[in-house]
Amino acid sequence: MHPKPPASTADRRAPKPAWLRKRLPSGPAYESVRRLLGKAGLHTVCQSARCPNQFECFTRHTATFMILGDHCTRDCRFCAVSHGPPEPVDPDEPRRVAEAAAHLGLRYVVVTSVTRDDLPDGGADLFAAVIHALRQRIPGVRVEVLIPDFQGRRRALETVLAAGPVVLNHNLETVARLYPAARPQADYRRSLDLLARSRRAAPRILTKSGLMLGLGESEAEIRTALADLRAAGVQVLTLGQYLQPTAAHLPVARYLTPETFESWRREALAMGFAAVASGPFVRSSYRAEALCDDARSA
Ligand code: SF4
Repeated sequence: MHPKPPASTADRRAPKPAWLRKRLPSGPAYESVRRLLGKAGLHTVCQSARCPNQFECFTRHTATFMILGDHCTRDCRFCAVSHGPPEPVDPDEPRRVAEAAAHLGLRYVVVTSVTRDDLPDGGADLFAAVIHALRQRIPGVRVEVLIPDFQGRRRALETVLAAGPVVLNHNLETVARLYPAARPQADYRRSLDLLARSRRAAPRILTKSGLMLGLGESEAEIRTALADLRAAGVQVLTLGQYLQPTAAHLPVARYLTPETFESWRREALAMGFAAVASGPFVRSSYRAEALCDDARSA
């Protein structure tokens, strides 16, 4: 007789609930975006992080550009982006991002990066260069940046803010207690501090953050994290279901139902967030433009 697998192994193999089954990305619109990005030698977090919304977003001709290479210097236990020696900074990348965004007909562009703790500026200069290149190539474009914590370096955040994105997004990702297990090289307070500094230094730029739910956090811990984000002045919030990218990543502790996500959306709005996206498939860049507009008109 075989012993029963431990609970954590059983969890890993548990089938996803019906509301989390999605079709695999395919089709001509999806393929044309994939080809365009591949030809330009660009990365997207959509592909690198195995986002479940790829089909929907690529079909709508939108994607989130991931600059500064495809290898992250950190090793977060929930993230599918690969880790390893970072690539050299490519000074031509801003031009290629701007060209690709123009080809896709984008008027609202989301730009993120791998974490580059190896660079003295954390990659802030390249973020700023991408924003400038986009503005030059697409007059009137709005840019949302999803930045790493820059290890708390003030100058790096100032560089990005000075370039004038419409939204400064930095994900808290999870509750404070789970940081050592999920984000061992990050710091809960440092992330909150970055968001608060952005809000103080550039109040016209919307501050945005997000959490993955289902990593083992309690309801009380979620409430504390949301209150901490509001205290930091965060205006836009995303809440989505954590999905285990591979067996080597943290297991899913709980699948929240769509109704539970809806109830968190209402509670977050009642706490004072100007716009909230909350649902099993919500990711920090999901329908980013609509969320930004919601926040502006709130
Ligand atoms: S939700 Fe964001 S990361 Fe996912 S496919 Fe859409 S744009 Fe890409």
